[in-house]
Amino acid sequence: MSYFEKVRVRVAPSPTGDPHVGTAYVAVFNSAFARQHGGDFILRIEDTDQQRFVRSSEEQIYEGLKWLGLDWDEGPDKGGAMGPYRQSERLSIYKEKSAWLVQQGKAYHCFCSADRLNQVRNEQRQSGLMPGYDGHCRNVSKDEAEQRIARGERFVIRLKTPDEGATSFHDQIRGQIDINNCQLDDQVLVKSDGFPTYHLANVVDDHLMKISHVIRAEEWISSTPKHVLLYEAFGWEMPVFAHLPILRNPDKSKISKRRNPVALNYYRKKGILPEAMVNFLALMGWSFGEDREIFSLDEMSSRFRLEDVHPGGPVFDQVRLSHVNQKYIGGLTEKAFVKFLREEWFSEERLSPLYSLFKDRLESFDQLADKADFYFLGGLDYRQLSLLPKGKSASDLKMMLSGLSELFDGLHDWGEASIQAVMDQHRADIEWKPRDYFMTVRLVITGRKDSPPLAESLTAVGKDMVRFRIRQAAEYVLSSEA
Ligand code: GLU
Repeated sequence: MSYFEKVRVRVAPSPTGDPHVGTAYVAVFNSAFARQHGGDFILRIEDTDQQRFVRSSEEQIYEGLKWLGLDWDEGPDKGGAMGPYRQSERLSIYKEKSAWLVQQGKAYHCFCSADRLNQVRNEQRQSGLMPGYDGHCRNVSKDEAEQRIARGERFVIRLKTPDEGATSFHDQIRGQIDINNCQLDDQVLVKSDGFPTYHLANVVDDHLMKISHVIRAEEWISSTPKHVLLYEAFGWEMPVFAHLPILRNPDKSKISKRRNPVALNYYRKKGILPEAMVNFLALMGWSFGEDREIFSLDEMSSRFRLEDVHPGGPVFDQVRLSHVNQKYIGGLTEKAFVKFLREEWFSEERLSPLYSLFKDRLESFDQLADKADFYFLGGLDYRQLSLLPKGKSASDLKMMLSGLSELFDGLHDWGEASIQAVMDQHRADIEWKPRDYFMTVRLVITGRKDSPPLAESLTAVGKDMVRFRIRQAAEYVLSSEA
């Protein structure tokens, strides 16, 4: 009898920033699979990386997935029989599991300093070897380890990985995958701050939450042999693994926030219908057949098979997304069309920033549509504007824009004061005159010289759209220069 009594799948995002389209993509496939098998779809928050953790991000993940209608059966907000579903609340479980591995002689304490590890890696590189841990602490006896821990020495816990042989697993999309064990390090399971690594926490949770099918993005495929070794060390039954292909640009490079809008919220702000987004994501690596492009998640669930996913990188093509969205808009009834406008586009939440932006700038409301165009638009048309301040070159401007975009990316509090502080600091760093600097930002974000106060306008437009426009303006500068 299998350990897994039914199909249970999960999406396990890390709350490290704005929810990514990749999370939604993985959620679509997991959700379709769960629906098809009458299984459970679980949301787990993987928040053990304390350095990258962003508090607001968890809430945004819920919102983004709910917007798409991808509801989960168990999760931190919903509870469930196999919780808690937030990894930071499961630390004692990881501690107990890692202690068991040490006790069984399958894992060990490693006291090597960062300096020593660097030195080992450098030497390995110099002699043309693959850098990795050299097993220095493998033979430290349990007694010695205990004494050193009692003396307060810092340590990590590593898994003893066989030096010889290979680790294999079957990927439901890609078939058999073999990795030589000599390519696998004695992976760290518990870090020196006592927190588990992604590998340990992920495997322990997948097992305890009885996840029967691990359906995740291709970028994790190199971690899977490590996970397989962990399942073996624990003596646990292996789930089915399936790695969905990475989303790519038309030039086949991986989509990334430096080049693409990857924040789910951007698409919501742009006026993509959630059903269209789900449909579009479902087309990434899978097709309905019969040349059908438009289908619902339920229709997808009725015929979806993991084996039918194509491992080749699907193109996350904005033109296709617009086309799918157009079909969905065209298919709306009048009632649904108005409902969307009322609930999403002209919702109270969406309209209320207009109050403080425009209340002292209107003679009559017929001026609003024109003045507030930047608030509702997606991309802007820069052709009628001269973005370049006097005395600055196109490359100065590009540098300025990419620097600003980078700084905004790292800014998690999107309030006026923090936006202003970032801009002030950036301006001072690159030594632009205030007038040149702020007018440029104003033109790029609002497309006009006479917008309401800048930081307030940026807050209202939203971080994802601001970053999109900065990138778009940089591309425009580049193309008009050619
Ligand atoms: N926390 C990982 C992520 O952010 C989960 C990967 C997995 O599904 O195993 O995507």
